[in-house]
Amino acid sequence: MAVPLIDIKAQYLELKGEIDKALKEVLEESNFILRERVSQFETELARYCDTRYAIGVASGTDALVLVLDAWGISEGDEVITSPFTFFATAEAIMRVGAKPVFVDIDRSTFNIRPEAIETAITMRTKAIIPVHLFGQVADMDTVKEIAQTNNLLVLEDACQAIGSTYKGKKTGSLGDAAAFSFFPTKNLGGAGDGGAVTTNDEKLAEELKILRVHGSKKKYFHEKLGYNSRLDALQAVILSVKIKKLDEWNEKRRWLARLYKKGLKELPIELPGEAGYAYHVYHLYVVRVPEGKRNELKAFLSARGIGCGVYYPLPLHLQNACKRYGYSSGSLPEAERASEEALALPMFPQMTESQAGEVLETVRSFYKVR
Ligand SMILES: *Cc1c(COP(=O)(O)O)cnc(C)c1O
Repeated sequence: MAVPLIDIKAQYLELKGEIDKALKEVLEESNFILRERVSQFETELARYCDTRYAIGVASGTDALVLVLDAWGISEGDEVITSPFTFFATAEAIMRVGAKPVFVDIDRSTFNIRPEAIETAITMRTKAIIPVHLFGQVADMDTVKEIAQTNNLLVLEDACQAIGSTYKGKKTGSLGDAAAFSFFPTKNLGGAGDGGAVTTNDEKLAEELKILRVHGSKKKYFHEKLGYNSRLDALQAVILSVKIKKLDEWNEKRRWLARLYKKGLKELPIELPGEAGYAYHVYHLYVVRVPEGKRNELKAFLSARGIGCGVYYPLPLHLQNACKRYGYSSGSLPEAERASEEALALPMFPQMTESQAGEVLETVRSFYKVR
């Protein structure tokens, strides 16, 4: 039995009736851009994240870019973030003209090490972007304490971690603002691109609402240079249907993680750590395969129809696109080691116990353990 890394269609089939009906309604209304359906979803998202505001935008990447832009971060500024994340986190910093400053990660959680942030702060540092990687919230109290002491803004990259909590508080509500992505593979995914910012800051919320429509408050009157970056009504209604399922789906992911933990515990691989403060929502289930065996295990699983993937094969400080910042190999050892050892196993809410069993059996047979 083949098991995919993720099965997006299964998610649609579970909610087909409701999604089809909602899409049909939007097509019949034909109000596609920034109308009631979008504000309805924004209200639901803000309620879900325990924030005052949620502002839909065109993607998670745009959510990051628009916040940095609204904060006036630009040429000459520095923003501290993780080197072990999807490229968009650093891309957003570079897009507004600022410099990404990478600090190393924690071995067990793959998230930024707050102790490393302090030594990276300079006169030019304006903000920190902690990434809640693979579905687990970063160590936010420590990040915020450092930010407060040094007068820095905190933008959560929560693209992989909607529903994850820190000491019971939802991602999205933990910094000055947060970016979410509704890319189809994310824990809350649409049928295309989409994203949102959450915040409690009324001024920032107003600014983002202007930025996303060409810098205008009133049609054809432009306050500033903006963007065309909106969440559309078709995506919004799909997300409104799915957000009602999100907690149940995240619980399913956690249940699968427990099955994996039980089935993998005697093998010579490291399982993802759950920090005491975190409710992990397992966007991806990423193990570490040491001793140069990662690619071998990956090929073994792929040959047997078990989906798996490497997140991420090259840390951001070593990307060609980041060459000008002058990082060399060996400068952020934990991120570099993670790139060599990380392997994601199948994880999606509709996965069955027998599919999980198939994954476990195949991994165990690689290690010749029954
Ligand atoms: C997916 C993702 C993004 C970008 O989101 P898009 O909607 O694809 O633009 C940013 N950061 C992280 C950590 C992500 O996983």
